[in-house]
Amino acid sequence: MVMHINKSHTLRVYPNQEQRRLFARTEGACRYVYNRALAEWGTSYQQKKAGEIEKAKSVIDISQDVTQWKKQEDTARLLELPSSPLTQALRALDDAFKRFFKGQNRSPKKHRRQKACSIRSQLDPRQKTAADAWANQKIFFPGFGILKSSLPKRLRVAQPKMLTLSRDACGRYFVAFMVEVEQALHPENDQAVGVDLGVKILVVYSTGEKIKAHKAVIKLRRKLKHAQKTLSPKQGAMKDTQHKLTDDLIQRFGVICLEDLNVKGMMASAKGTEEAPGKHVAQKAGLNRGIAHAGFGEIRRQIEYKAHWRGCRVLFCDRWAPTSRTGSCCGAYQATFSLKIRAWTCSNCGAVHDRDRNAAINIVTFAPGGTPEARAGNVRSKARGEVYPPGPDEAIQPTRWDLDEPRTESQLLNGQEVMPSETRCRSAA
Ligand SMILES: [Zn+2]
Repeated sequence: MVMHINKSHTLRVYPNQEQRRLFARTEGACRYVYNRALAEWGTSYQQKKAGEIEKAKSVIDISQDVTQWKKQEDTARLLELPSSPLTQALRALDDAFKRFFKGQNRSPKKHRRQKACSIRSQLDPRQKTAADAWANQKIFFPGFGILKSSLPKRLRVAQPKMLTLSRDACGRYFVAFMVEVEQALHPENDQAVGVDLGVKILVVYSTGEKIKAHKAVIKLRRKLKHAQKTLSPKQGAMKDTQHKLTDDLIQRFGVICLEDLNVKGMMASAKGTEEAPGKHVAQKAGLNRGIAHAGFGEIRRQIEYKAHWRGCRVLFCDRWAPTSRTGSCCGAYQATFSLKIRAWTCSNCGAVHDRDRNAAINIVTFAPGGTPEARAGNVRSKARGEVYPPGPDEAIQPTRWDLDEPRTESQLLNGQEVMPSETRCRSAA
């Protein structure tokens, strides 16, 4: 099965000096055409209102005017510039008027010179130079030729119908476009993976693969600590890391299991409550900051929409499920555990665990409603998604369990209290 999806892309481009000059001239010309047309249109509407003329000018009349301007000596420079952006500027004005007459916005205003600006152009699919360039994954902008870009190799894009070239206030250039892509669904893949979103290492799969945080992410985090500002060019690099990661997951696995992290909730949880103040607040706050900054919300968002495209399933394990403290070996709960522990030995069976991988394995076990004991062939535990109550020095306070669901039944297992049915599953439809 195949699905058609419109994907939008924004890429940083690096125009050469000549192209930058052309951009400035074209943008200026677009503004000129827009403002002059706005004035003429305004006059035309006034005349119609006063009964001097029967019909106000149409967009066709105005574009004929523009053709005339190109022939006039003082505005002949318009002829030297790519024509499509000028046409698009007129269309933008036409749209603005249409919306105004529908009462959707205010009357169109004059465009002023601004540091941040953009031009739009149509791409003719029959034009060979453009088609060839796009076929070779090169950003071709009509009149400008090929723009040096940061088009990632993994991204295969078809030639779009419309392109926007913009410059931001810092003088960086971007190209934005939308392309329709065919996406194959692969629901037959039932390979499952658990994904632990860590802090130091960005992501650990239950397969044991570790994907390191991009340097940019680390730098970015440091930067964000000082100022919550709009992101630097590094943002692009970070986005790229996230897309690489989520693309990899979606392509290889049919079932992706994640922890239902509530970033906001985790930020709050470090403080604890009045009766049960949180322990190790500083460390946890640090951890929480890390969680927020590594863009976990974004990773999850990408996984969810890409999974939807590809027909993969996304399962979540309960955010309070003790994925770190439970041994994926036999299900034994580790009462004493610190955030600093990277590797540990199971007190019950002696298995040695890498902290993050163990968590990832627990996530893939818990999310579909299983238990580590059942996975290890231990029949004693029958309850679905069983999780153990936190020990006395658990940083996450035991009272938390009550927040979500009341305790239903408890039983004694290995001298420990066991609470069934805590793991909730949710699948992205
Ligand atoms: Zn064990």
